[in-house]
Amino acid sequence: MTAKPAAAAVRATVHGFPRQGPDRQLKKAIERYWKGRLDAAPLLETAAELRAATWVQLADAGLDEVPTGDFSLYDHVLDTTVMVGAIPPRHRAAYDADPLDGYFAMARGTQDVAPLEMTKWFDTNYHYLVPELGPDTVFAADSRKQCAELGEALALGLAARPVLLGPVSYLLLAKPAPGVAEDFDPLTLLDRLLPVYAEVLADLRARGAEWAQLDEPALVQDRTPAQLAAVERAYRLLGTLDDRPRLLVASYFDRLGAALPVLAKAPVDGLALDLTGPAAGNLDDLAAAGGIPGKRLVAGVVNGRNVWINDLERSLSTLATLLGLAGRVDVASSCSLLHVPLDAAAERDIDPQILRWLSFARQKVTEIVTLARGLHQGADSVAAQLAANRADLASRSGSPITRDPAVRERAAAVTPADTRRAEGYAERTAAQRARLALPPLPTTTIGSFPQTTELRAARAELRSGRLDAAGYGERVRQEIRETIAFQEKAGIDVLVHGEPERNDMVQYFAEQLTGYLATQHGWVQSYGTRYVRPPILAGDISRPAPMTVEWTRYAQSLTDRPVKGMLTGPVTMLAWSFVRDDLPRGETARQVALALRDEVGDLEAAGTAVIQVDEPALRETLPLRAADQPAYLAWATEAFRLTTGGVAAATQIHTHMCYAEFGDILQAIDDLDADVISLEATRSHMRVADELAAARYPREVGPGVYDIHSPRVPDREEVVGLLRAGLGAIPPERLWVNPDCGLKTRAWPEVRDALTHLVDAARELRGGL
Ligand code: GLN
Ligand code: ZN
Repeated sequence: MTAKPAAAAVRATVHGFPRQGPDRQLKKAIERYWKGRLDAAPLLETAAELRAATWVQLADAGLDEVPTGDFSLYDHVLDTTVMVGAIPPRHRAAYDADPLDGYFAMARGTQDVAPLEMTKWFDTNYHYLVPELGPDTVFAADSRKQCAELGEALALGLAARPVLLGPVSYLLLAKPAPGVAEDFDPLTLLDRLLPVYAEVLADLRARGAEWAQLDEPALVQDRTPAQLAAVERAYRLLGTLDDRPRLLVASYFDRLGAALPVLAKAPVDGLALDLTGPAAGNLDDLAAAGGIPGKRLVAGVVNGRNVWINDLERSLSTLATLLGLAGRVDVASSCSLLHVPLDAAAERDIDPQILRWLSFARQKVTEIVTLARGLHQGADSVAAQLAANRADLASRSGSPITRDPAVRERAAAVTPADTRRAEGYAERTAAQRARLALPPLPTTTIGSFPQTTELRAARAELRSGRLDAAGYGERVRQEIRETIAFQEKAGIDVLVHGEPERNDMVQYFAEQLTGYLATQHGWVQSYGTRYVRPPILAGDISRPAPMTVEWTRYAQSLTDRPVKGMLTGPVTMLAWSFVRDDLPRGETARQVALALRDEVGDLEAAGTAVIQVDEPALRETLPLRAADQPAYLAWATEAFRLTTGGVAAATQIHTHMCYAEFGDILQAIDDLDADVISLEATRSHMRVADELAAARYPREVGPGVYDIHSPRVPDREEVVGLLRAGLGAIPPERLWVNPDCGLKTRAWPEVRDALTHLVDAARELRGGL
């Protein structure tokens, strides 16, 4: 092959990087600051050191342009709110008095002032703070953070590209401020917001930015013609400013669809596209739009939100196709690497063979640089890396871990009959009434009781070897005894064992299922300083032994009242884990469902009359594009029915979901064919009960009457009021009385009082029936 000119640029970048540092220094420093144990100056210094270390490391790894402004002390959407001056009035005084404390007050609230609402960042497990806007919102540019961080990177002698949340996505992610009409559309503020972005861009240009990236992830969701017209207007205006850096408009998490031709025609200088997973269709769409001749294309061929090594040869061939569609092609991650752990090399307990299949943020940067070299300097320049990658991919696809014939055969043999209960709901409910003999308005809880410091300490002692399995088991049994005794005394009708043995509702099961992997350091940011370590679905899933039966059996041995068996459902097991990229999600869900089905069967055989299968994540992994939603809901509800479909008519299946928005998945909730569903409802004052009644939901429902997210204890009258509202929509024989969610984050004194009030309220209303 012909030699490339020595100056051929590598052209590799990322959209953002994990913020916390290798030892979670940022989290620790911020939490010490909150507790008053660290001053602002050393906190900000730690943050600056982490940023510098990250940039230097990215540049050393071979990226020729580093992102700036993606760093955050809490959340980048909150940073954008500060950048555009949209501080909510209730936080204004505190913010003006001390911007750092005011910033944290917006994020976390104070004794007197409520925080901004927090919600999921698209279909990831990251949460952002929702901007609150209204017709009176006045924007004002504050480019200090962006300019300062750009300055820091430039001072290190690096090429740097500020990354900003774009104006259209910022408005689409916002909600009407408290007191503003619910139908207020924040997008109507676009013309007021654009001059603020123009000013920030001019400041960045003056500070030395050659390029700036505007992220518009909201455009990968279905958008109306009016919204697309707003995109067109926004980028016509920003693109024709005299005084600006070159503009790169970025999208990720799915394909751009109708927004792609709009952005391709806009007077901006480049596009960043996600080319992985469901977004791979961007390639054809870009070709159909005629490409972006003469412009910069940042090609997201390395998946920024999974943990698997890239297929480098396949990516190189995609990249080669893209060369014909743009003036310049850069190689990048599909989205910010914020969503993956930092470094697979830090894992010591993972089998070295499996470790070679994993790629966390640092490994992904290396892949990006390799691909960029291969693209711009010829595949020969990376022949060794390609060979190693080929071997790793082969070891993964040929491994008995990723392909267990017994699991595959069983999954392939599933018939529609397996996913349906033998009897219809009416017949089941009669059998269950006869068996359980519950009063109207039966009371229950969602599963967990307070996770005390003693319990956590016992688990830590077990891990460190200071407590043996028998000793730990006795601590758990003691907790179960206390929990059962309390529920009997309070007069609850359907009891739970309290889940004291569970550290986390997904991890507990993941640890016991074959095919799942746990990490030691695989932290990813959930929100603010909260980091989680999602387990990894690495191979075919099977259940070597029962997982919950002993604890449930023990709890049942202590009481004559029914004790509910508690399981985490297959959809949630996937949603809160890293999933495979070598098997469709629906297939993995089916494998998990079969393992759980065996657990359900064992619980039933042990005499458990009520079994709850939690699916709090059903709604949150709904695909971003409406066209993809029916297929998802089909496999998701099928997996739930496969888990629960094998039980007898007299065994009552419960399910549980949190999050107040259910309106668009009512049909799916019905398709679960559970006998009883409990839902979060206090925050919307039982609106979900009305929605279910309007949709003619035929089964039993427990809309939550105790908001477990707050230490506040509701009194009896308050619960009575909520139940009356529920009874307006659901008849007493189908209305359950329960909290919004599990009680594990609450303290015992609150829980005792709240549940006592809840039982009293149910009794009062029963008296009037
Ligand atoms: N059974 C679980 C618990 O009570 C449910 C938790 C959840 O819905 N997030 O903790
Ligand atoms: Zn819940």
